[in-house]
Amino acid sequence: MDKSVNIAEFFVRTTKRTDFIEITRKVQEAVTKSKIKNGICHIFIPHTTAGIIINEHADPDVIADISETLEKIVPWKNNYSHMEGNSAAHIKSSIAGTSKSVFIENGNLMLGTWQGIFFAEFDGPRSRKVWIKIV
Ligand code: ZN
Repeated sequence: MDKSVNIAEFFVRTTKRTDFIEITRKVQEAVTKSKIKNGICHIFIPHTTAGIIINEHADPDVIADISETLEKIVPWKNNYSHMEGNSAAHIKSSIAGTSKSVFIENGNLMLGTWQGIFFAEFDGPRSRKVWIKIV
């Protein structure tokens, strides 16, 4: 990325076609590094077949249930038109969304006790980017 762009960036390596990787610690590291104590942390991913979700990180069964349910709602094969053959991943990306915002108070992400930030891979395995803008 152009060094004049004031955005933090880190990479996520996904290992399966559908993969949910918790990135809460990496996002918090970007917040800490920015030295901004009070503001808003925007998390954005520049991808069309992945998403960002915020949900429970205490019980991994919750993420597994979300993953399995998305799979049922949006099956991989469904007579889609898109030639590349990964329309299901594009649709899941649209459902999950490609950005989230979290408040920062006293230098900390204001997440609920049970909340974590997850990179949601829908067409892996791949190397992916996460962009963070703190204002
Ligand atoms: Zn495609």
